[in-house]
Amino acid sequence: MYEEFKNFIYNQLDDSEIILNADMSRYSSFKAGGKADILLNINNIGKIKTILKEIIAKNIKYSIIGNGTNILVKDSGYRGVLIRICENMNSFYVKENMIIAQSGALLSSVSKAAADNGIGGLEFLNGIPGSVGGGVCMNAGAYGKEIKDVLLKVEILSFEGSIKTIPAENLNLRYRNSAIKDSGDIVIGAVFVGAFMNKDEIFSQMAELNAKRRDKQPLEYPSAGSTFKRPEGYFAGKLIEDCGLKGKGIGGAKVSEKHAGFIINYNNATAKDILDTIEMVRATVKAKFGVVLENEVKILG
Ligand SMILES: Cc1cc2nc3c(=O)[nH]c(=O)nc-3n(C[C@H](O)[C@H](O)[C@H](O)COP(=O)(O)OP(=O)(O)OC[C@H]3O[C@@H](n4cnc5c(N)ncnc54)[C@H](O)[C@@H]3O)c2cc1C
Repeated sequence: MYEEFKNFIYNQLDDSEIILNADMSRYSSFKAGGKADILLNINNIGKIKTILKEIIAKNIKYSIIGNGTNILVKDSGYRGVLIRICENMNSFYVKENMIIAQSGALLSSVSKAAADNGIGGLEFLNGIPGSVGGGVCMNAGAYGKEIKDVLLKVEILSFEGSIKTIPAENLNLRYRNSAIKDSGDIVIGAVFVGAFMNKDEIFSQMAELNAKRRDKQPLEYPSAGSTFKRPEGYFAGKLIEDCGLKGKGIGGAKVSEKHAGFIINYNNATAKDILDTIEMVRATVKAKFGVVLENEVKILG
């Protein structure tokens, strides 16, 4: 089915940018999941533009992924093309009180660069393991702050092939969502802004937040962070805990004993184990409290 498209990508890209039958457990922080027909680790915008044009022209299914810390590919795999923007496009630089980053840069690196340059306000990003693109798309946040608070503008490649600069206020950034999510548009870069502050204060704030995270979250196990969005008026973790589900799961997946909002892969879970555990949790919480939990994790395939 993809023969023509495969010839095209091998003409346009370096072999090292193309992975056929990619084992997606290697690219998901859950360390689980099936194979993607084609995974592209493209290293520049011009090439992404060319490939995207061909994908659209051929009507091939595609998705964008970043560092894979909020996705899960079903065991049956992804029949299409995954464009992964991560370490192949991860440069950034600091200008005055701004950090100008490619979308594959890690949020932790951006936050650290801000701190190194005495730019405060981005400390909360240090413990979020995603990329700039994934962070913008999800409006990632922690400890009362979110990307929306520190984002000035983004550069996107729209699915029709044009590159546009969009101010943050036009992205409809809201709780773990944005106008970019599921639009087919690709974030290629972002400009973050902070305020000049005392470096020691910035680093101590960052250390405090990271210590809180280590204390409360099961960082020793593969997961995708909070599995569910926060339902209006509740906390997902509290509802799950109040259902007595800590430590309960299916196969190699279970609800973390440390933080009930996290489903963890504690013993070679398959994507099905994780998805079945998600469904078990949703059904139990719905039956006991009448609250419908919505996945924060994006399921592909
Ligand atoms: C241990 C742990 C802790 C976490 N803590 C937090 C937390 O405190 N707060 C929080 O908000 N999240 C948290 N997360 C979840 C996750 O890190 C964030 O959602 C992050 O923003 C996802 O970024 P990513 O690059 O991994 O994106 P991926 O998981 O690869 O993708 C997530 C979404 O972004 C889209 N996307 C990715 N890159 C692009 C791009 N360049 N252009 C367009 N769309 C793109 C994908 O299509 C998908 O819809 C945590 C995850 C883990 C594993």
